[in-house]
Amino acid sequence: MNWVLAIAPVLLVLLVVLTVLRRRAELSSYAQRHAERVEAQARGSDKARLQHPEIDLSQCIGCGACVRACPEEGVLALMHGQAVIVHGARCVGHGRCAEACPTAAIALTLGDLSERRDLPAMQDDLEAVNVPGLFLAGELSGFALVRTAVTHGTSVAKTVAQRVRQAGRSNGSAPGDVYDLLIVGAGPAGIACSLQAQSDALHYLTIEQSEDIGGTVASYPRRKLVMTQPVDLPLHGRLNRTSYQKEELVELWESLVTLHDLNVRGGVQMLGFTRSDDGVFTVNTSAGEFRAKHLCLALGRRGTPRKLGVEGEQLPKVAYSLLDAESYRDRKILVVGGGDSAIEAAIGLSEQPGNIVTLSYRKHAFFRLKARNERRLQQAVDGQRLNVVYNSEVLGIESGQVRMRVGENGQAREHVLANDEVFVFAGGVPPFALLESGGVSFDPADRPAPPSLANEGRGFLLAQIGLLLSTAAVLSWAMLHYSYYSAPAIARGTLMGHSLLRPAGPVGLSFGILACAMFVFNLSYLIRRSPRFGRILPGSLRNWMNAHVFTGVASLLCVLMHCGFAARNVVGGHALIALIIVVVTGAVGRYFYAFVPRAANGREIDLDEARSRLVSMSSAWDEAGRGFGDEVRREIEGLIHAGRWRPGLFARIGALISGQFRLARTLSRLRSRGRTGDIPANEVGDVIALAKRAYRLSLVVMHYEEVRAILSSWRYFHRWLALLMVLLATIHVVTAVRYADLKWKLWGGAVPEVAP
Ligand SMILES: Cc1cc2nc3c(=O)[nH]c(=O)nc-3n(C[C@H](O)[C@H](O)[C@H](O)COP(=O)(O)OP(=O)(O)OC[C@H]3O[C@@H](n4cnc5c(N)ncnc54)[C@H](O)[C@@H]3O)c2cc1C
Repeated sequence: MNWVLAIAPVLLVLLVVLTVLRRRAELSSYAQRHAERVEAQARGSDKARLQHPEIDLSQCIGCGACVRACPEEGVLALMHGQAVIVHGARCVGHGRCAEACPTAAIALTLGDLSERRDLPAMQDDLEAVNVPGLFLAGELSGFALVRTAVTHGTSVAKTVAQRVRQAGRSNGSAPGDVYDLLIVGAGPAGIACSLQAQSDALHYLTIEQSEDIGGTVASYPRRKLVMTQPVDLPLHGRLNRTSYQKEELVELWESLVTLHDLNVRGGVQMLGFTRSDDGVFTVNTSAGEFRAKHLCLALGRRGTPRKLGVEGEQLPKVAYSLLDAESYRDRKILVVGGGDSAIEAAIGLSEQPGNIVTLSYRKHAFFRLKARNERRLQQAVDGQRLNVVYNSEVLGIESGQVRMRVGENGQAREHVLANDEVFVFAGGVPPFALLESGGVSFDPADRPAPPSLANEGRGFLLAQIGLLLSTAAVLSWAMLHYSYYSAPAIARGTLMGHSLLRPAGPVGLSFGILACAMFVFNLSYLIRRSPRFGRILPGSLRNWMNAHVFTGVASLLCVLMHCGFAARNVVGGHALIALIIVVVTGAVGRYFYAFVPRAANGREIDLDEARSRLVSMSSAWDEAGRGFGDEVRREIEGLIHAGRWRPGLFARIGALISGQFRLARTLSRLRSRGRTGDIPANEVGDVIALAKRAYRLSLVVMHYEEVRAILSSWRYFHRWLALLMVLLATIHVVTAVRYADLKWKLWGGAVPEVAP
């Protein structure tokens, strides 16, 4: 025993030192990420234009799986023990974060759509809200990525096939006259839709304005790697790889068009469409009119390239895409634009021998670049391969030169640049007007409400059910042997059942061993979570997290059974106390995590948004009005001011917890006052709910970073207390094995009694 006593303080000191060092490093990295986030907000690169992750902080356990899973750099980071979005604009919607999240805390969404007028109003099955029979697939719907486009296209053709089957084909129109489905666009969405339509034997036609198929992918630079995720392509099977060269994908699609003799017509542009009362669409194209019962628009969002609108733009040296940088050498090149496509083209061209490349951008800095492009751009500028001219605008293009205005308003001057080639990457004019003329609505009010992430509630349901059952079993057992467990530990030796129930008896010991097994299982969750060793253990992180919560609490139940519900003043007893604290900190931590406010769909609310919500709440109070609303508001404001925080972590935690109790008391008082008054029950409920939200929001607005810091510190305590508990439990087990000859006990041998 002496060596145990000697080594324990050393280990304890070591633990404390490590804890402090680790914590300091963690806090400094949080501070760094916070600064990066503030900078991203200032630059406007914190928000994505299309789909992006939204994090439900009440579900996020801060495991970092999402951060590791994201192939783009800097989109997500861990701050105060939870995931946050740093450079949202770098997100291209891979969705790997959502797949990797063990607690379903991340969903890929288009964000707050209440103000967006660049996304069509659609049903879940991709049918336009106001135009029955019209479907929108792929990037046009707002969701980028090749995989999404393929999934959309396939799903549209399946829906149409089902409707055609239900309606029966012979309802007045011969197949040759009216198509079942007309697909516009032969990018990934249109091709997948065509393949599925062929597979379902639909009478369909696909038109594509370009002579070639492949859509945006076909226009990527030569040998560009397309990052994707496994997806099923109709009539072909699964595309299993996570990256393809652009040429591989385009070749595959071309070969499938030929192999299955798909009905695709290139060089046909859709100019407009109308839907008649009998539900048949008439599509006006550059090759005449087509009629179809269903229309799938897979047009993408690039539309036609946005022009500069300057003199000389029609010259053959002006291009709006770059397929192959290697075919340009010894040229004086101007690239116009500030997005990733412009930067990639400029860098690609600057790497070819003899090129003199100038990049012209109308703003004073680049705002929404991928981290990799930012770095490559800096390297090219530092290596003097590329000249960047900010605050510049092209005024006119001539055969051997380009005229530009350079500098900010007051000090702008004209500059002439010798030039052989001009590449313009000024984005595209999206086909929204075409869609609107056909009746597609872009009005946010027409959009169906998004599904609420917070309501999904898939969190720890399994663990909770398991724990409920285990607790019921333990309680039943304890009630059955109440006379034994309720007796003082010292007096139990003479009671019936002692040999069975005592810590070293068959029942007590079995529970002790089960608790140890559960500890081991519980801790192996840390291995599963580790980016380096995680793959050793099979199963999804979500299941492991469930198992972690379950075994954490169930091990406490087992230990209680093992010690007969009586903690003794020995190492085992101390381990029990530490375990109780660990379980409590885990549970309280969950409570704190749920404290930071989030939007109705579960999305994290940042400080600015929280502030503006608080401001907009005043009008909700005015509506609640009727005296009772005003009274509740006054009470809540008083509560907020009374609960000022003192400096210091523990004082803040205390204020947070006591504030919750005060809030609960005040609300219950107000609720009963509302009920006894003449106010309808639903109005009382609304005002009380408003009061709760206002209180939390005010607190968070006042102490945003502190609340996040408390959450992270809490998690930290939980982790290190768990380590201390494991240390004590190990000492307890080692002592038991060493002094009580556990082997004998296990096999039923007679050995002297020892303290547990
Ligand atoms: C530079 C860049 C890099 C990207 N990298 C990736 C990546 O690595 N991984 C990934 O998954 N995604 C990537 N994407 C996104 C991906 O390319 C798109 O999300 C995807 O191509 C969308 O497919 P789509 O079929 O919806 O539209 P598109 O591919 O845009 O196809 C639309 C088709 O419709 C045709 N069309 C348009 N209007 C008409 C009309 N009026 N009449 C007839 N035809 C018309 C167009 O000519 C085009 O062929 C990238 C995008 C860009 C711009």
